[in-house]
Amino acid sequence: MTTAVYPGSFDPITKGHLDILHTASEIFDKVIIAVARNSKKQGFVPIEDRVKLIKESVKDLPNVEVDFFEGLTINYAKQKGAKVLIRGLRAVSDFEYEMQLSQANSALASEIKTVFLTTKPKYNFISSSTIKEIFLNNGDISKFVPEPVNDYLQNRNKLFDN
Ligand code: ADP
Repeated sequence: MTTAVYPGSFDPITKGHLDILHTASEIFDKVIIAVARNSKKQGFVPIEDRVKLIKESVKDLPNVEVDFFEGLTINYAKQKGAKVLIRGLRAVSDFEYEMQLSQANSALASEIKTVFLTTKPKYNFISSSTIKEIFLNNGDISKFVPEPVNDYLQNRNKLFDN
């Protein structure tokens, strides 16, 4: 049984992330999507809400688990008995950082392998930071994020308006 961890900020989860997750769930027996907690950065969406939104967005994927962690990804992966880390690649600009990260992780724990996946072209340009930018400028993000994320952010907007 091969378990893979898909780590990231997911602030918030997008249809790009979901596409990667769908593919990973077809390849591996179990996939844990794990939100990295950064104690120095609160982020755009609080971590508890990020986890809840992911849970609502992956209901249809029976072999996907949702969790969060703090500290080194490889330590979390070891603790979960995972041999694989999933990362996504969008463009050449992602490559250098992702390559460094995977090599650093490999130097720390050679038994854990990083697997890179890509999305369908229509989701390729989507990033959490693009979503934030569009949302904060009152643009329509519904095509780019799962429904629970869109609903959550629209409701949050209403709370701020009152
Ligand atoms: P991090 O802060 O760790 O980069 P992100 O939540 O931004 O976390 O992304 C998690 C992973 O998903 C990264 O490997 C990133 O490259 C990948 N990813 C994000 N959006 C896409 C997308 N649209 N297509 C392919 N990979 C993506």
